[in-house]
Amino acid sequence: MTVGSGSSGAVVANRLSEDPSVSVLVVEAGESGEWSLPITIPMFHWNLYKSKYDWKFHTVPQKHACKGMRDQKSYWPRGRALGGSSCMNGMVYVRGSRHDYDDWAANGCEGWSYKDVLPYFIKSENIQIPDIKDSDYHGTDGPLYVSPGNASLLADLYGDAMQELGYKVVDSNGEDMIGYLSISGLEGNVFMKTKKNSSYDYPDTQLHIATVCGTKDDIDPAITRVNLKSEVLLIAWVFITESIA
Ligand SMILES: Cc1cc2nc3c(=O)[nH]c(=O)nc-3n(C[C@H](O)[C@H](O)[C@H](O)COP(=O)(O)OP(=O)(O)OC[C@H]3O[C@@H](n4cnc5c(N)ncnc54)[C@H](O)[C@@H]3O)c2cc1C
Repeated sequence: MTVGSGSSGAVVANRLSEDPSVSVLVVEAGESGEWSLPITIPMFHWNLYKSKYDWKFHTVPQKHACKGMRDQKSYWPRGRALGGSSCMNGMVYVRGSRHDYDDWAANGCEGWSYKDVLPYFIKSENIQIPDIKDSDYHGTDGPLYVSPGNASLLADLYGDAMQELGYKVVDSNGEDMIGYLSISGLEGNVFMKTKKNSSYDYPDTQLHIATVCGTKDDIDPAITRVNLKSEVLLIAWVFITESIA
């Protein structure tokens, strides 16, 4: 059973269910969202803020930041639907910094150095940008389409301006991650002009999806009891997972 069906939970459940001998139950707190227009239209995420597809988190009052915000609290949107925050994110395809992965490995996380994780980034990606298609850092056979962010002519003007100011224009997912993100900014999650969230790739095999739209008090424990033969994976985003655990 996986709890949480966001960017990571959806992918993990999908991969587990590729094994026909494994039966996977996905439990997700939000709705499907499959028919929600703001979820399917690229870059419509503003329309999802504070909607039923958002957890609507706020930080505690900040002492030194958020001085223009009510009670000095920062609003942190988070996706609450099948697909999680991939339903509302800004679609910019940026991998983590290689230095962070290497730091994790140096601190004992075996198998998490940048060298270790890079093959998985490559495997998951289907890059649609001709200039970097042949780069050793990109893949062309994976399910995640990455296309040029050329929706606005301004993107190229920004690139020119940054170069004029002496900044390097780079492929931030390539060898040199520091500089201005080139190729007009990379976009992920888009295929045939439709936004894709992580849950769309669920295969039909051995996968059961339960969306739990209610609080603990709304749910009848008699009909939500699940007997498991194997593991429970908590993949409900970094803050929430800890509170469930
Ligand atoms: C507005 C916005 C813009 C962003 N822009 C970008 C961007 O341009 N580029 C980029 O790389 N990243 C961006 N991100 C970040 C990116 O979307 C997240 O880092 C990523 O989606 C996190 O994946 P996750 O699987 O950890 O969590 P999520 O995708 O958030 O998934 C967690 C899931 O767990 C579910 N859940 C929580 N608690 C429970 C429970 N008790 N029971 C069952 N289910 C539960 C949630 O409803 C959710 O569906 C953005 C995020 C937001 C909110």
